[in-house]
Amino acid sequence: MTLEKLAEQKTDAHRSRNQVSRSGNSSRAASSENINSRILEIENHIHDKHILGQIGNTPLLQIRKLFKLNDSVEIYAKAEWFNPGGSVKDRAALSMILEAVRSGKLTGDRTIIDATSGNTGIAYAMIGSALGYKVTLALPSNASQERKNALLAYGAEIIYTDPLSGTDGAQQKVRELVANNPEKYYYPDQYNNPANWKAHYDTTAVEIWEQTGHRVTHFVAGLGTTGTFVGTSRRLKELNPGIVCVAFQPDSPLHGLEGLKHLATSIVPGIYDPTIADFQIAISTEEAYEMVNRLAREEGMFVGISAGAAMAASLKVASQLKSGVVVTVFPDGGARYGVEHLR
Ligand code: PMP
Repeated sequence: MTLEKLAEQKTDAHRSRNQVSRSGNSSRAASSENINSRILEIENHIHDKHILGQIGNTPLLQIRKLFKLNDSVEIYAKAEWFNPGGSVKDRAALSMILEAVRSGKLTGDRTIIDATSGNTGIAYAMIGSALGYKVTLALPSNASQERKNALLAYGAEIIYTDPLSGTDGAQQKVRELVANNPEKYYYPDQYNNPANWKAHYDTTAVEIWEQTGHRVTHFVAGLGTTGTFVGTSRRLKELNPGIVCVAFQPDSPLHGLEGLKHLATSIVPGIYDPTIADFQIAISTEEAYEMVNRLAREEGMFVGISAGAAMAASLKVASQLKSGVVVTVFPDGGARYGVEHLR
């Protein structure tokens, strides 16, 4: 979380406190006071010595050896495994939880529930633990053991769903549970929650802009919930409408790019905006594996499979350019996956 963002939130809290004191409705004011004191409590938690204060502001690493076209084209990656929960999803999860507390939807007695292929779940579990909320997650039973272990370590409850139905099946299960017991749960619904993409609009994009000294020309990201691509691209295009935004997806419905969606055969997330991408690229699982291995052996970066796909997509973009600054996102690290794809 950037200092700028924290300051913004504090101003928001201050504003809504003022609104409460002007309100004539005492019971609404009382519940708003509760919300405001909870927000203040959380904000006091999120400072530089708190685990949640470490979310965001990840390093921007230059790819130096995998790409040797010419000196006028540079490739950089946001190293999102530096987040405390180990992935890019810490940003979206924190944003959705803070928004829910602020709007009064997440009260202390509710359990946070969602469907996730793993990283968002780990982020909810970490943030839930740090802020004192219970967390329940539905995930396809074939999610990696390493991810299940992390969820269990943070104390989350896991509900396993059919691996053949993927994250769509897990979402379905969550909807059923919430419909049967709406008072028990708070369902952030990351596929349809604007606070997901706003996290990247407020943080990831601004960091990229600053870390490249405003030189970024191309942004490349994969589509899962689509929050990273949509939020980062929206803000970058506002900062400089000339920035070209390239989305990539798995090249087939049955793929090994965990965390990414083949949109043509999946439920399209509500937050997805098909007008943002200037180009779309399809990446095969094999290409991604190849890049995971090369990044580990040649760059000293042990990354996850979707990061390998991001590298493959960025190379395709960079190889078309005479000059430019290509920035991508490496969503997580390699330790979270099995070893089948490693040479
Ligand atoms: N890669 C991995 C490993 C992920 O967990 C996710 C999140 N589903 C993504 C990529 C895609 O990010 P987003 O949900 O923001 O589209």
